[in-house]
Amino acid sequence: MKEDYYELLGVSKQATKDELKKAYRKMAVKYHPDKNPGNKEAEENFKKVSEAYEVLKDEQKRAAYDRYGHAAFSGGMGGGGGAGAGGPFHDPFDIFSEVFGGGGGGGSIFEEFFGGGGGGGRGRGRGGATRGSDLRYDLEIDLEEAAKGVEKEISFRKPTSCSKCNGSGAEPGSGVTTCPTCGGHGQVTASKGFFSVRQTCPTCNGSGQKIEKPCSSCGGEGRVNETTKIKVKVPPGVDTGSKLRSAGNGEAGTHGGPTGDLYIVLHVRDHDVFDRQDENLYCEIPIKFTLATLGGMIEVPTLSGKASLKIPAGTQSGTTFRLKGKGMPSLRGGYYGDQMVRVKIEVPKSLTSEQRQKLEEFALACGDAEDDEEDGDEPKGFFEKAKKIFD
Ligand SMILES: [Zn+2]
Ligand SMILES: [Zn+2]
Repeated sequence: MKEDYYELLGVSKQATKDELKKAYRKMAVKYHPDKNPGNKEAEENFKKVSEAYEVLKDEQKRAAYDRYGHAAFSGGMGGGGGAGAGGPFHDPFDIFSEVFGGGGGGGSIFEEFFGGGGGGGRGRGRGGATRGSDLRYDLEIDLEEAAKGVEKEISFRKPTSCSKCNGSGAEPGSGVTTCPTCGGHGQVTASKGFFSVRQTCPTCNGSGQKIEKPCSSCGGEGRVNETTKIKVKVPPGVDTGSKLRSAGNGEAGTHGGPTGDLYIVLHVRDHDVFDRQDENLYCEIPIKFTLATLGGMIEVPTLSGKASLKIPAGTQSGTTFRLKGKGMPSLRGGYYGDQMVRVKIEVPKSLTSEQRQKLEEFALACGDAEDDEEDGDEPKGFFEKAKKIFD
């Protein structure tokens, strides 16, 4: 008996999309195989909650499930799907490999589970269908955008399935026959010395078909280079090197093979004020030497506006203060880093005569205090005397 999807996620039937997502993320983190190595039960649970979420996050599937229960998906996960890369079960942008430190790439349990694209058309009906290549797009964003998350529209050129021939490579209306070289297998056996090697048929490039008249739009390739525009949702907390996967936005496959994925590699620009180290931000703020001596409040820039910082009397140059929670959000969610403020005491480069006099008095007072501790013998009014010399 299959468990109820809502119960699996621990949410009510009225749960909003956000609540579902939160519940799922929590469960996914708890049961993720990386966190529970060798634990079969956790792996099972992980698959169950993932399946539940895949259904409930989709409005149509959720409605079907609400009405018919599990019977609505009698084929089970992955059944009947497989349309295009990633199948119908991929988040358009998933950052799982990043969140879980899986390092991207194939073989993750997500790909296994979500089925669809992974296998790349191998073993599918027609011979020679190959999955389109994955693409990489390097996206630069500001530190502010990395902190808050941002949506960017990117455009790039990539091989896209030809719309004139629907990717078949044959001019519409023209005939397609079985390739005479390979007899439709897409592969031929060639002899190399003592060995015979199976290789892709050179005549049909593995499609197993002979096109009578190549499509005039793509020249028979089935793909054309087109500019694609997509919106990329960058979640808060990303850093340089973070990768986002956009399933099915890579190169079109050939001979009806599925589309590859697009990987967006993020680069966070250097900031004028802040240096970043993981979730913590660092900045240096100049303060007046009088403020450092007497103490007081200063205003400090943060990514979320101005913040007040108390400078205690007697603060030394180079002292670092911590503004809790004013750093970057964690990509895993749940907490913010801190902002470290290092103060640099500024010595005034020029003084008015009045300022100078006051400072001299101050210096004198300091001198007096020291003298008092010793024998008080030293000549007083040094600056007074020195002034006479310079006059
Ligand atoms: Zn052939
Ligand atoms: Zn075409």
